[in-house]
Amino acid sequence: MPLVCLSLTARTIAENLALLERYRDNIDIAELRADLLEPSEAFALRDFPSFAGLPCILTVRRKCDGGAFLDGEGQRLVLLAKAIAYARPDKNANFAYVDLECDFRVPSIEEACHTFGTRIIRSRHDIAGMPADLDEAWAELALEPNEIPKLAVMPRSSADFAALFNWASSLPRGERIVVGMGEYGMPSRVLADRMGSCLAYTSAIRAGMPSAAPGHLDPLALQEIYRFRELDGETSLYALGGPNVLSSKTPQLHNAAFKAAGINAVYVPLPSADVPTFFSALDALGACGAAVTVPIKDAVCSSLSRCSPEVEDIGSCNTLVREGSGWVGYDTDAEGFKRALLEFLGVADLRGLRATLVGAGGVAKAIAHVLSDLGASALVLNRTVSKARVLAQRYGFAYGPCTEHSTDLVADHADVIVQATSLGMEGERQGDPLDWYDFSGREAVFDIIYRPERSILLERAAAAGCKVMNGWKMLRYQSAAQFKLWTGREPPDTYFA
Ligand code: NAP
Repeated sequence: MPLVCLSLTARTIAENLALLERYRDNIDIAELRADLLEPSEAFALRDFPSFAGLPCILTVRRKCDGGAFLDGEGQRLVLLAKAIAYARPDKNANFAYVDLECDFRVPSIEEACHTFGTRIIRSRHDIAGMPADLDEAWAELALEPNEIPKLAVMPRSSADFAALFNWASSLPRGERIVVGMGEYGMPSRVLADRMGSCLAYTSAIRAGMPSAAPGHLDPLALQEIYRFRELDGETSLYALGGPNVLSSKTPQLHNAAFKAAGINAVYVPLPSADVPTFFSALDALGACGAAVTVPIKDAVCSSLSRCSPEVEDIGSCNTLVREGSGWVGYDTDAEGFKRALLEFLGVADLRGLRATLVGAGGVAKAIAHVLSDLGASALVLNRTVSKARVLAQRYGFAYGPCTEHSTDLVADHADVIVQATSLGMEGERQGDPLDWYDFSGREAVFDIIYRPERSILLERAAAAGCKVMNGWKMLRYQSAAQFKLWTGREPPDTYFA
């Protein structure tokens, strides 16, 4: 089981000690990043371990390795010497580890470490990519049997991450640290045990501190969301593929459900820009299932060994289940949307109702399928009208541009308005795709975006007196359907709370 290490990034020793108190129950070890301290704090470095009350790593990271130290190797040597010299008889009052880069081999410092019982973490940080030859890089780090080799690299794609994961998990067991930094390296933080790492580095993100390296999680997030301390070699892996998946709320939903159901499994974001690299990363992980998000929901369909009738009809797939060496594709957006919509409207079907669907992307295809299935007369609007036409014609719906030219059409399909574009999502382009339409107050408006809780469109609709709902319930319900497909078991209440 890897130790959870909190990398301390405050400017003073006192602030760092306060952070330790806040996180003490959730960490095993602390890394003092001396390169981030105010220069005047250097005098207090030596005493830090005795105040910390848990094993400490001393690190003075250079700018070229992703740190902040710029004063040259002479000054760094002095700082390191000051911090590890004058060893105390009580070992707990000394730094337990010091992080020394593989090109920093200074016999006097190494000798002091050996004499005083401070273990050396021999590190290499590739902050711009991956070494061309991981074995060669590793050989340089693992020269001394008493040292702990550490390789931290920056994968630039999910294929890079797959290569790193495969390589690290095939190394012989032993004390070592392998880290994937940045967005694509994020799964390595959660899967440290699978990669054979004896440490998982974290930062005090929830305390508002900067991350010590790109991609750190908060120690509480690591445990609360990913159940880090419960993961082992038997844990089944599930992943969320697509770009921009790190802000998804689905890890909270699925991991809470695995816990509630007593299933030894974890669900991690697997940032992936395209389908081939996503599948290569899934294979490297030995994943049992996956969720797929925009924009690769349509493109995955051609790589499936088979798919459900819904996927055939909708032409888009958001759920993968491993079958032998291939993948079976399912859609749960339709089921999640249908359940949330019927609950919202308090009806059993949409016969006699007229609906407007705004959007013609991946999820709109699933929604159009449901609107048709439930018997609605619908109108499809989209920025790219040709896509609205293709989707509408499949179900015999009307269509139009998403502009004021469609005002009368909307007024004629205004019992239910479903917003299914990505416009209005937090962090993306803010906006209201219907800013040209004045709500009468009689429309029921369902915006499938759930971040922010109320989009500009929903705010406007609610202000006009409309009944409104966001996409949070849809997300929960479609996630519950994924759980059932992955595990074959009824989803626990956590999805419906
Ligand atoms: P997608 O396949 O990329 O489709 C995006 C849609 O948004 C297209 O219709 C696109 O129009 C439209 N669009 C994008 N930017 C626009 C803009 N600036 N102005 C007007 N229209 C714009 O994405 P998707 O899979 O359909 O997902 C759409 C949204 O639904 C996302 O925000 C996603 O997070 C959300 N979603 C929610 C749930 C849930 O459970 N609540 C489930 C799935 C998806 P063009 O065709 O003209 O490009």
